[in-house]
Amino acid sequence: MIIASSQQVILRHLWFNGPLSRSELHHLTGMTPNAVGTEVIQLQRLGLVKELAPKLSSGGRPQIPLILDPSARRILGLSIEPGQVEVAELGLNGQLTLAPIAKSINQESRLVAAATHLAKEHCVRRTLLAAVSVTGLIDHASGNILLSSSAPHHSPLDTSILRKELDDVELIIANDLHAAAGRWAVTHRSELQEDTLLIAFDDGRIGSVMVINGRPNHGCIMGANELGHTRFPVPTDRCFCGEIGCLERIFSRAFLGPTVAETDFTQRLETLDTQDARLMEMLDLLVMAFSNAVNFVRPARLVLASRFMGGNVFADWLTGRLRQSILPQLSERVTIDAWNIKLAGSAESAAWLGLASLLFESWKIYSSAATMVQNPPIV
Ligand SMILES: [Zn+2]
Repeated sequence: MIIASSQQVILRHLWFNGPLSRSELHHLTGMTPNAVGTEVIQLQRLGLVKELAPKLSSGGRPQIPLILDPSARRILGLSIEPGQVEVAELGLNGQLTLAPIAKSINQESRLVAAATHLAKEHCVRRTLLAAVSVTGLIDHASGNILLSSSAPHHSPLDTSILRKELDDVELIIANDLHAAAGRWAVTHRSELQEDTLLIAFDDGRIGSVMVINGRPNHGCIMGANELGHTRFPVPTDRCFCGEIGCLERIFSRAFLGPTVAETDFTQRLETLDTQDARLMEMLDLLVMAFSNAVNFVRPARLVLASRFMGGNVFADWLTGRLRQSILPQLSERVTIDAWNIKLAGSAESAAWLGLASLLFESWKIYSSAATMVQNPPIV
């Protein structure tokens, strides 16, 4: 791995509390002043940390504030999703340095090669690591994509070309929901200690992830693809998983009608006419599945992440209906948050996952770091 866990502790404090001086880091981390000094030198050599102008103090030595260096290193985010690949780049301060660029790909068999090509185009010397988010299941040992809605007719997808072409940077490959949850973890520090069920949903795409003590729980039965494939006895299009009645086929514009456009779907959701029988049938099933997940997992916090959760009628209706459908004792204590964000398949979320994996060891789902040589220092 590139970064030692003691260095991650320093990076984490700088991310959440920075700027901080070496002395403040010593007090916050419990590391000795010498150890802090040594690790900071390493982090400076890697281009991850930089000094700001000294703060003059009354008496004693001036304090030199440290921050995560916003410019020396970058994190590349890639997403592989149905019909397209996307790339984005993030600085270590969380600023987008390359706005997402998407490329349509019609052939499933070309997705990985196209993602590799896009990554190679934007991977430069300052790229610290590349994080890839993929819909579906990833083999944590090999990094191959076992089953994915991005390639329903062509799974499993071999990612060896991506791993080979990007062998000079650390490569992380994870499910898109893990990417979303990684993004949530580094942007919601105050809630990190709470057991959280994050559900992300979009047109035809639903997934969840359980975050315990700030870490993704890989074994949680609801904390992966399962939620989108919770089945109801209603006729739907056949899901890529082979079944009928999957929740992600229900929560889709095709469920409302064969000619419903994306903009109509969004508008019908956001205006929420309760006389719209087909829409309400769809949403009742959505509430049932989400409340089942909460009743089963019993999290302290439920985060509903979607571009549809932007403080509109729908967001209020969904939150209210969920409260009524969750077991009463649980409903009293669970916090329900709306997170208005486009998550599914976003290269930006993938880049945030890269940042999460820099700050927290637990966010590396598949990482090439075990076999890679250490990144050369940036001078
Ligand atoms: Zn399914």
